[in-house]
Parts: sequence; structure tokens; C-alpha cells
Amino acid sequence: MLQLYNTLTKKKEVFKPLRDKTVTLYTCGPTVYSFAHLGNLRTYIFEDILKRVLLSNGYKIKHLMNITDVGHLTSDADTGEDKIEKEAHKEKKTAWQIAQFYTQAFFQDIKKLNILKPNLIKKATDYIAEDIELIKALEKNGFTYKTSDGIYFDTSKLKDYGKLTGMTFEKLNQTLKGGSRIEISPEKKNITDFSLWKFSPKNIKRQMEWDSPWGIGFPGWHIECATLNLKFLAQAFQGKKFVPQKAKTIDIHCGGIDHIPIHHTNEIAQVEAVTKKPFVNFWLHGEFLVLPKGRMGKSEGNAILLKDLENKGFSPLVYRYLILNSHYRTTLEFSLEALQNSQNSLNSLREFVYDCLWCAKQQKNKPRNIISLKKYHQAFQTAINDDLNTPQALAVLWQLTNEYYQLKKDYRLWDKINFREVLKTTYEFDQILGLDLNKIKINPLPPKIQKLIKQRELKRQEKKFQEADLIRTKIEKLNFKIEDTPWGPKIIKI
Ligand SMILES: [Zn+2]
Repeated sequence: MLQLYNTLTKKKEVFKPLRDKTVTLYTCGPTVYSFAHLGNLRTYIFEDILKRVLLSNGYKIKHLMNITDVGHLTSDADTGEDKIEKEAHKEKKTAWQIAQFYTQAFFQDIKKLNILKPNLIKKATDYIAEDIELIKALEKNGFTYKTSDGIYFDTSKLKDYGKLTGMTFEKLNQTLKGGSRIEISPEKKNITDFSLWKFSPKNIKRQMEWDSPWGIGFPGWHIECATLNLKFLAQAFQGKKFVPQKAKTIDIHCGGIDHIPIHHTNEIAQVEAVTKKPFVNFWLHGEFLVLPKGRMGKSEGNAILLKDLENKGFSPLVYRYLILNSHYRTTLEFSLEALQNSQNSLNSLREFVYDCLWCAKQQKNKPRNIISLKKYHQAFQTAINDDLNTPQALAVLWQLTNEYYQLKKDYRLWDKINFREVLKTTYEFDQILGLDLNKIKINPLPPKIQKLIKQRELKRQEKKFQEADLIRTKIEKLNFKIEDTPWGPKIIKI
């Protein structure tokens, strides 16, 4: 039984898809004006775990992610420049080139982190016509008004606006007024109102702009996610024709917790204002990755990128391990020390798999396993189904390795461990963890090493231990470690 914490109801709830066995899942994608930083990537790892857990529960997934290539402004209050156009000026490229470059970089990063790719990836700029249809429907229902710089959504018109935050409309407006990130535009009726369509500035020629019934301009950031959900998951478009009454509630929508008060709240507002039914059944949000001095972010000027870690010699999967070792709903403080600990842990897990592989290769019989794997399977499944408790799931894997090494201390028990089964279980756990444990291989030894090992074995049989030790030293100098076992020498490349 899978339980997930739903931001909408503020409690853990049993998850079941609304329709048959296919889960409709939407995750907010990157704004492609720069590289994703580690904080952004934490959210994508959490969403990847969610997908893997859904799959392990026997569900199919229809996963849609957007690429924000237009309309995301430098301020949450619909002011400031378009992030992508701004970067284009800075890098002396076109906005389209910027978007393409950082989209590619994003997919390279998530591939390195073993994040499963969404079934559907859609760029905001490809669906401007649909955005316009949605704004027209909102206008028809009386939710919009015009200012000198665009068409806005009047949030006071929606009776439960802000429900995702758990605050009333008044309270949310007061809270945002107190927040430093919001500048108040005098033409906006409420602080929470947001732009649906922004007019191109009169004095500046934008690279990305489109004609609309209200004038030349570009869509607001919040509308693109609403539109893409309505089109691809809620099935509310018949071709280009918008049929809001046909919209289906989608199963899960995810993102970082910073999206709760504005972006996701506004997605809900736009969709529910026209469909008159719940937009999303489960909202899941990942917590921040922070630095000792506070939040990590591009605007904070302290963004660390995946390639920065790689330049320091850490593989991206070490970062993935670090993320898995904390629950997605807890704040995680990033430090190089914590990363180094993850590196050590991942190395130990790899050594465990290597040892198990080696023993499985030597083992001729198929014994009844002295290790009861069933209890580990159950504990692992319970952990991941308890709101994606990955630290607990990792702890289960560590318990398995502890029992394994404990038993192996007694050589007589080696024949009672079914090494293939232990491996199989570990690989199954890794289907969720995604740490590439199944890619560990025993590579053939170089001929020179093979020869030295044979010589050493011969010396040992002749009881010429001093000479055997000299050969061992030679082998170690060539970066191979020997461990003598009842099943022969185990050689490990250092
Ligand atoms: Zn979004």
C-alpha cells in the first residue's frame, strides 16, 4: 500500500490512480536560461524516485514535463525581464539558441544522475495557441482584467484561491505583502493577481513574441504549465479546440516547495476557474537543498553545478546517493564533507556487490539461503511505500550487507549463502535507488597479473611463504589487492 504526503490535504494518504493502472504525472521542468544547480537537481531526483516507486507498485506512468523557454520573469511579481531574453543579450546569442543550449545541458545532467526521462517533454513556445485559448476561456468566465502591461487573472474571483498554501485569500495577500520578493504593481487589483499575457514592451523589440486578441506579447509563466496539463494529461483539447468541461483530474503534480504559494497556486486557479473540477489529486513537493549560509540559488549567487562536483572528482551518482540519504520533505544541508561521506558509502556498496559477484562466480551449488531475503524485501518495500522513505530503504540495504559480512566471517557458512540470490535482491533494490549497482563487473585480469597470481599460488603450495609474499608485494605495486579466501585468491583492482 503506497502512501504519499499530499500538500493539498497536509497529510499522508493512500495513493491510487484515478483511472485504471496508469498514473498521470506532471513535473515542472527547467527554465532554460542557465545550468540546473544542485538544488534544482534534488527536486528531479525526488521525482525520479517517485516514478520508480510507482512502477514497482505495478503502475504505468504517463509523465509530462515542460521546458520553460519563454515568459519566466526575473521577479515573481510579473515584473523584470524575461530570464531567457536577458541571458541572450548577455551571451550575445538568440533567445532560441540559449533555450536550446541549456535544454541539452539539462538532459545531459539528468542522464548522468540516472533520472528516467519523461514520456512527454513539451516546450512552452510550441503551445502559444493553446495558451491563448485558455486565456479566452478565463476572459469569458470573467476572471481577467487588462492593465497597461498585460492581461491579468483576478484572484479575488476564485472562491478557494490559495488552497494549496492552506491560507485564505486575505491571509495569503497579507503574507505576500510582507515578503521581500514581491514588488507591488499599482495596476494590480490584488497582490496575488498574476499575468496571463504580457504585452511586448513598446521601446524594446523582443525576440520571442506572438500575436494575440489582446496585442503582441508573450504568455505568463504560470499559464504554460496549466495549458500543457490540460492538453496532454487532462485531455481538455480536441485538436486546438479547448473543451474545458472534458478535463480529467490528473493524478500527481510535483515540484519544489518554493512553487507552492505562487506558481502551483496559480496553475490551480487557471485550470479550476474554467474546468470547475479538481485539477490535481495529489500535490507532492520536495524541500530545499541549502548551504550553511542559506538557500542555494542562481539569484543568491551561490549555485553549485553538477559539473563543479565532477571537476572535484565526484561522480554524479555520489550526489544521487547524498540525496537519497535524506527524506525529500526535509531540508538538506549540502557540504563537501557530506558528499565525501556519500562517496565512501557508495564505494562500500560497490565493494559489497563486487564481493557478492565474485563469490557467486565461484559458487557451484545453489544452497538454500541462510540469509532470509524475504524480510529485507518486505522492509525495503515498506520503506519506499511510506512516502518514499529512501533513507530507510538504504538502511535496509545496509542491514543486508551487515548480515552478509557477519556470516562470511565464518568460512564454513559460505556454502550456505546463496550469493546469486543476494545479488538479485540488491539489483532489485537498485531499480529504485538507481545507483548503477548492476553495472559492476568483474573484469578479466591483465595477463601479467594472472601470471603472478599463478606463481604465488605455486609458492604457497610449496610452503615458500616468503617468496609468495614478495610476489604479493609486486602485485600490489601494480594496483591489485589480494584477499586469500577458502575459494581461492580474490583479486581487486584498487
Ligand atoms: Zn510549472
